[in-house]
Amino acid sequence: MTSSARPLLNRRLAEFGTTVFAEMSALALSTGSINLGQGFPDTDGPEEVREAAVRALRDGRGNQYPPGPGIPELRTAVAAHQQRRYGLTPDPDTEVLVTAGATEAIAAALLALVEPGDEVIALEPYYDSYAASIAMAGGRRVPVTLRARDGRFRLDLDELRDAVTDRTRMLLINTPHNPTGTVLTRAELASIAELAVERDLLVVTDEVYEHLVFDDAEHIPLATFPGMRDRTVTISSAGKTFSFTGWKVGWVTGSPELITAVRSAKQYLTYVSAGPFQYAVAEALALPESYFTGLRDDLRGKRDLLAAGLEKAGFSVYRPTGTYFITADIRPLGETDGIAFCRALPERAGVVAVPTAVFYDHRETGAPFVRFAFCKQTSVLEEAARRLKGAGAR
Ligand SMILES: *Cc1c(COP(=O)(O)O)cnc(C)c1O
Repeated sequence: MTSSARPLLNRRLAEFGTTVFAEMSALALSTGSINLGQGFPDTDGPEEVREAAVRALRDGRGNQYPPGPGIPELRTAVAAHQQRRYGLTPDPDTEVLVTAGATEAIAAALLALVEPGDEVIALEPYYDSYAASIAMAGGRRVPVTLRARDGRFRLDLDELRDAVTDRTRMLLINTPHNPTGTVLTRAELASIAELAVERDLLVVTDEVYEHLVFDDAEHIPLATFPGMRDRTVTISSAGKTFSFTGWKVGWVTGSPELITAVRSAKQYLTYVSAGPFQYAVAEALALPESYFTGLRDDLRGKRDLLAAGLEKAGFSVYRPTGTYFITADIRPLGETDGIAFCRALPERAGVVAVPTAVFYDHRETGAPFVRFAFCKQTSVLEEAARRLKGAGAR
C-alpha cells in the first residue's frame, strides 16, 4: 500500500489522468451511436500491403528483434519517398530512424532534446500526445493559438514570434494539422523557418497526414526551407497514409546528430517494434502514385459528404484542406459549450464527436468547436448525416 496522502500518478502526469475519449467511446457503445470521434479508418488499407505483412511473418522476417534503427529495407524506402516527393536526401544509414508509430517518435524527440524547464511552443489546438510528452520531458508547453478566420484556422505569425523567449528550445509543428484540418501555407512555413533560424530553435514537425491534402493545398516539409535541414526533426508514420493504424510503424528523418540524439531516447522506450510490419510498410511506400491519389480522392469525397451533412444540420463548417477531420462550430445551433454538446449528442442524434476544447490550454477559445472524423465508409457517413439532420442536432 502507498501512503494515502500521496497521489499515485506523479505530478508531471496528473493532468493527463483521464481523457474525454474514453468517456465518448463508452457513450458510443451504450447508445449504439456512430463513432465519428475517434480518428481511425473503418476499412483496412491495401490488400497487397496486408499480404506483405503475412509473407514476412511466414518467412520469418522480423519475428525476432529487428535492428535498432529499423530494417534497412524500410529506412531505404523512407529515404526514397522523401527524395521522390520533396527532393530531400536523407542517408538511410544515419538520417532515418524507425519508431513505434509517430507517437513514440514525438516522445523520443522531446525526451532527447528538451531539458527540464525548456519551453516548447506548440500550435493550439494540439494533438493530445504533445502535451503529455512535453510534460514527461519536464518541458513547459507554450501554446500558440490557431485563429479561426475566413473559413480557415490560421497561424498568427506575430503571436508565434511573441511566444519565443530565451528559454524556448523548440517549435513543435503539425501540418496538415489535427484537429483543425489546416495545412500551413508556404508563406506561413517560410516565416516559421525564418524565426527558427533567427532564434536558433529546434523544430519537430509531425507530418503524419502528409498524403491527406485536398484542393489546392500543398504539403511542404519544413526541412526543405533554408537553414532548416540541420535543426528539423521530421516525423511521419504509416498509420494514416496506409490505413493500418494498429501497426504502429513510424519514422524520423533529420541530421545524423539529431537522429543519434532521438535514438538515444527511443532505444530505452521500445528498443524496436513491429518487425514484420516494417517489411510490409517498406513495400507500401513504393506503391504507385495512383494509390496515393486514390486515397486522397476517396477522402476528399468523404469530406464533402460529411461537410454537406453538417451544414444541413445547421453547423458552421471549417472545410479542411488536410487530414480526415472536420471542425464544426456549434454556435449557429444556439450552443456554446462543445463539451456539454458532445456529451449530449449521442442521446440526441446517435452520433459521437469530440469537443475540440480538450486540445486547448485556452479552453474558452476552443469551447464552440467539435471535431468529426470522416475516415469512415460512405454508408456510415450518410447515415451519420441523416441522424444529425433528423435530430436538428439540437
Ligand atoms: C494519429 C496521429 C499521430 C500518431 O501516429 P501513430 O503513428 O499512430 O503513432 C501523431 N500525430 C498526429 C497529429 C496524429 O493525428
